[in-house]
Amino acid sequence: MLRENSQNIVIVSAPSATGKTSLDMRLQQQYQQQLTIVRSCTTREARSQDTQDKDYIFLSKDEFQQMIDRQEFVEWASVFGNFYGTSHQEIDRIISAGKTALLEIDVQGGRQIRKRFPQARSLFILPPTIAELRRRLVTRATDASTAQRQRLLAAYHEIRRGLDYQHFIVNDDLELAYQDLENIIICSTAGRLSREQGVEHCQRLLAEFKQLERQGDVL
Ligand code: 5GP
Repeated sequence: MLRENSQNIVIVSAPSATGKTSLDMRLQQQYQQQLTIVRSCTTREARSQDTQDKDYIFLSKDEFQQMIDRQEFVEWASVFGNFYGTSHQEIDRIISAGKTALLEIDVQGGRQIRKRFPQARSLFILPPTIAELRRRLVTRATDASTAQRQRLLAAYHEIRRGLDYQHFIVNDDLELAYQDLENIIICSTAGRLSREQGVEHCQRLLAEFKQLERQGDVL
């Protein structure tokens, strides 16, 4: 059973298209004996690239609701109209094997976990600029343009709610961002940004978003 003081939980949140999954997957591959990404449950449709991306347990809405009723989730949230949740079972399996459980979840889930496990470490991955995030969302093209717009708007709200995370990484260069991730999660040392610099970067991104919105240039 999980202890309230578990330091073996790391929350990683980030807006869509910030490269979070590839960074986390690489870390898991390199440190297989130490760390596992928790498989989340979701009611969203499987995408063609899901086998290379985050590994989900795909459920119907009824199945998900039954798990809520049976209190099988440590946290759950509605994101982009679908339900996502972390089950006790998945997280317990990793912690009881003596490994760190990496939770790749949104900010709503992150907040629930931090409330429940105050010792959990939290890390937020940010794009260098909103313009760059917009470019990545468009070139990734896994979604229709209305969904891309929805994801960019969601990024604004996620960044606002991410201001109280402990660590921040800017994914401006995949290699350097990976080193930051490794330093923070595996070595428990600092990344390139102090917490203060991370918060400042968030504030710059929020201001840039507002500026693009004023110009009618969000997407
Ligand atoms: P995607 O559908 O693009 O894989 O993920 C959409 C969003 O849901 C991302 O922000 C991702 O971090 C979040 N997410 C994935 N799994 C979980 C989960 O178990 N709980 C919560 N709260 N969010 C999740």
